[in-house]
Amino acid sequence: MKLVFVNPHPDDAEFTSASTIKQAVDLGWDVTQILMTSDEYGTNRNDFTGKRIRAIRKHEMREAAKAYGTNPDGSSKVKIIWFGEIDANLPFNRDVYLRLKKILIDLKPDIVIGPDSFFSLDLHPDHKHTGWLVYIIVKSMEPSKRPMLLLYHSSNTNFFIPIKDLWIHRVATAKHRSQFSPLFNKLLYPLRKSFYFKRGLKMGRILAEGFRRVNFTKGENEIKKLRHKIIYLFEMRMFNNFSEKLCHPTPKELGLIEE
Ligand SMILES: [Zn+2]
Repeated sequence: MKLVFVNPHPDDAEFTSASTIKQAVDLGWDVTQILMTSDEYGTNRNDFTGKRIRAIRKHEMREAAKAYGTNPDGSSKVKIIWFGEIDANLPFNRDVYLRLKKILIDLKPDIVIGPDSFFSLDLHPDHKHTGWLVYIIVKSMEPSKRPMLLLYHSSNTNFFIPIKDLWIHRVATAKHRSQFSPLFNKLLYPLRKSFYFKRGLKMGRILAEGFRRVNFTKGENEIKKLRHKIIYLFEMRMFNNFSEKLCHPTPKELGLIEE
């Protein structure tokens, strides 16, 4: 079995799906994380913004991948593909669509996991664009050859994967040291437990990671319930003009775009 994640940033899969990744690796599945951007603005420190934080984030991502298991040569069982777009600047256009589609078709996944852009719990522009891209790429595939598509960060979950080992969340997330302080990670652990348990109540008394399984049926992405509408509007407001606010200095000024 082949499981492919399409993530806007390093840490998105650790934050949402660490237990699912660990279980897939333990079962001997082939797991790949495609990282659309490399978190070039993932710091409050101006002296680190750009190439410096990118190098740190790539290192942290490699370490996080190793947390799920390593090969005899020390490399991570989870494979990493850097797509190479810039943090907060992931375009939603034909070029990115075609490049990502080629990677996904070549990988021949059985299951694809990415962010939900329709019932989103995180409307960061990179998340929104990644979610749209993954959705339309999988939809464009011939139905008999389509991989199963699961979406994380969704307010409308309908597919739950029981958590065998919650600890892996803490271990894998901790590798993204520049993003999550040890104290934050420590506090997050009991919070996660209660959150997963609460969600698990929907399905019985189990801890579970929740996804929205997409079936490509008409109207499945339409927001109808008031609760989902409120969450979506809140997210829209929060991330309004986000890229403009975040990207100082601009990617060009930082030398991230060569012309
Ligand atoms: Zn992210």
